[in-house]
Amino acid sequence: MKKVIQNSILIICLILSTFATASPELLTKTPMGGQEFGHSVKHIGNGIYVFRWWVYRNIFVVTDDGVIVTDPINPKASQLLQSEIRKVTDKPVKYVVYSHNHHDHISGGNIFKSEGAKFIGHKNILEQLSDHPSPVIPMPDITFEDSYILKLSGRTLELNYFGPNHGDSLAVMRLPEEKILFVVDIVTPRRVAFRGMPDFWPDEWIRTLKEIEKMDVDYVISAHGPQSQPPIDPASVITEQREYLEDLMAAVKEAMDSGMHSPDALRENIKLPKYQKWRSYDQWLPMNIERIWAYYHMGW
Ligand SMILES: [Zn+2]
Repeated sequence: MKKVIQNSILIICLILSTFATASPELLTKTPMGGQEFGHSVKHIGNGIYVFRWWVYRNIFVVTDDGVIVTDPINPKASQLLQSEIRKVTDKPVKYVVYSHNHHDHISGGNIFKSEGAKFIGHKNILEQLSDHPSPVIPMPDITFEDSYILKLSGRTLELNYFGPNHGDSLAVMRLPEEKILFVVDIVTPRRVAFRGMPDFWPDEWIRTLKEIEKMDVDYVISAHGPQSQPPIDPASVITEQREYLEDLMAAVKEAMDSGMHSPDALRENIKLPKYQKWRSYDQWLPMNIERIWAYYHMGW
């Protein structure tokens, strides 16, 4: 009997340890329950590439002295990314730039660490990753406070921090020669805000977009979009994103000021027909409305 109990304990331990080692990968192996995701690469000129994995995108810049990679996304995506980079250059990845602390964008960098890349991110990422570490997210080697100019072989990538907006570590990246902005999560062209706007601060988000609108930028590459979305958009999508948020907040405030306080009623009654052609309007607008209700109701 004692032996049976010992064996049972051993089996339970084995099962638990299997789960413990498998858990960090669960999210990346089956996003959206295993939906097909696919990937693609577009060269938009001057050694600048847009890599897409499912609805996530990043950019990489190929120079004579090596490659600059932004968000590795996740272990599966970063392997595909590495093999795509190999197809266009044999130069090593020298830098990996993190856009912010969220694991769904910055996991999977270990393979670039192995080829000697240095990791760069806003200083707040250090604290956030210490609180929520991940075995597939190397810590930044280089951090910055307000801005950072990354130079490699005569190419420049400028990193700009605008304070809290989406989390509190977001770097908005600009290629100054090309006047291209690579922006993660706070500008997604022709789509309403993501679900219940997790870790978004609505008023700070609008403030940040106003500041970005003043930058010398002609084009935007957004970190989210399906395969059908162009890899690059005109800078006007920044203003469109701000106007959507302002219209959303104004509509919720107006309804609440006129006495509608139930989030269910707000979700049911508020429509923004100007944006009904935007992606995810039907599914996510009610969630956006509830998030803004919480902002006015709770001051959060
Ligand atoms: Zn995020």
